[in-house]
Amino acid sequence: MNRLKCEDILRGHDFKITQPRCDVLSTLSEVQHPMSVLDITKKLGKSSPNIVTIYRILESFVEKGLAKRIQLHAGEAMFEFAGFGDHHHIVCVRCDKIEEFDTCDVSGVLKKVLKGSRKFKSITQHTFELFGLCNTCARVR
Ligand SMILES: [Zn+2]
Ligand SMILES: [Zn+2]
Ligand SMILES: [Zn+2]
Repeated sequence: MNRLKCEDILRGHDFKITQPRCDVLSTLSEVQHPMSVLDITKKLGKSSPNIVTIYRILESFVEKGLAKRIQLHAGEAMFEFAGFGDHHHIVCVRCDKIEEFDTCDVSGVLKKVLKGSRKFKSITQHTFELFGLCNTCARVR
């Protein structure tokens, strides 16, 4: 994603344009899979903002719906660009390998939940992650 497109998206989400925000956003959108804060630092190399800054930027992206957070089993998180559309992940509880899938079919559940809710008018986002053992880890007992 080029600089202009980044600025466009940032502005569209009420962010002030800063170099670190642009860097993090373009990295996320170019690498089409979930990344950890460390992955992003490595990818940006010498010009990378520090880890705390990246983490803060990612949190604010998640808040505004620009990025998705994928929780790994050790409490760590991965982040990915939200523009890739509705899809979900299976995470290996042993090695954190991630596989993506896009059939989640939650619309029935959402309707039911909303009907029973007294405090919510609409549901705008959902996350749905599955955890298990990957082929490699299932073999090693
Ligand atoms: Zn994904
Ligand atoms: Zn595994
Ligand atoms: Zn879904």
